[in-house]
Amino acid sequence: MTLDNIKEEIDKAGTIVIVTHENPDGDAIGSSLAMYIMLKNIGKQVEVIIPEIPKTFNYLPYINEVKTKGSIEKHDLAISVDCSDIKRLNGFSEYFENAKKTISIDHHSSNTMFGDINYVNPVAPATAQILVSMFQYWKIEITKEIGTCLITGIITDTGGFKYATVTHETFDFASWLLQNGIHISQIYENCMQVISKSRFELTKIAVDRLEFVEDGKIAFTYINKEDEKLVNADIGDHEGIVEQGRSVEGVEVSIFLRETDKGYKVSCRSTNDVNVVDICSIFGGGGHARAAGCTLPYSLDIARDKIISETKKHL
Ligand code: AMP
Ligand code: MN
Ligand code: MN
Repeated sequence: MTLDNIKEEIDKAGTIVIVTHENPDGDAIGSSLAMYIMLKNIGKQVEVIIPEIPKTFNYLPYINEVKTKGSIEKHDLAISVDCSDIKRLNGFSEYFENAKKTISIDHHSSNTMFGDINYVNPVAPATAQILVSMFQYWKIEITKEIGTCLITGIITDTGGFKYATVTHETFDFASWLLQNGIHISQIYENCMQVISKSRFELTKIAVDRLEFVEDGKIAFTYINKEDEKLVNADIGDHEGIVEQGRSVEGVEVSIFLRETDKGYKVSCRSTNDVNVVDICSIFGGGGHARAAGCTLPYSLDIARDKIISETKKHL
């Protein structure tokens, strides 16, 4: 059983490193930290490496122990959480590649199975929910700190418990946390509700520019580097913009483009039947049926044309 094999590798390892995907979201950070705290609690020598963390997640326990550089080059074991593809480990893939043994724990349907051991459940609403059952199976105590990190991953990846991916296990866990004195509403407010002024201003620009194509079935908007400079945007301030278009009646796919050094990063969300991972995979990206992404190394106009024409084929 894969779960037993994973535990065996953890027990054997002298040094462990945890990594996750670039532009990390709440699930990436929450799952990494939950794994980190759990491993520390059972006495392992472990480090967690995450390049850039949005300030939103400063409330998470042990966030100050996250490193941007590993202290050793070759760990006995590397664990990747919430990452579908080794390319998305970005500049930090070296820690994964150099490790003697590698494990990938994830919920992306597009996972490329890049670890020596892969534990991928594409129907899980968040990697954090996979960790809940994993820790339960191993009979490891889910402390308040671990619970806070896990529920953060679940809340953020389910849009605040609202996506169809939510299962009864999601609410069982939330209920268990409440019974154990964890303030879900406070965590919810921290990761979903409160946004910085810059983030608000950036959203305003994108909403103002939002256009509807194909009889209102596609919502499209973008932000470029200039916009981010104008509002003094911080890491992660673009998160959630794509949800604006998705909420409008009649929209089947919402597309949001953000200028990066590699071109335009695409975020796609769908409301009903369109499988956006199929669209993004064509351009080398991935994700889930209702939320996916890719990067288009072109100018804004060309990127817009390419992603909209491909989306039209899937309506
Ligand atoms: P985003 O639009 O960046 O919030 O991403 C939506 C979902 O697609 C998340 O689960 C991401 O992890 C995944 N995703 C985004 N971009 C890529 C990519 N280039 N390759 C694979 N998965 C991606
Ligand atoms: Mn993620
Ligand atoms: Mn996730």
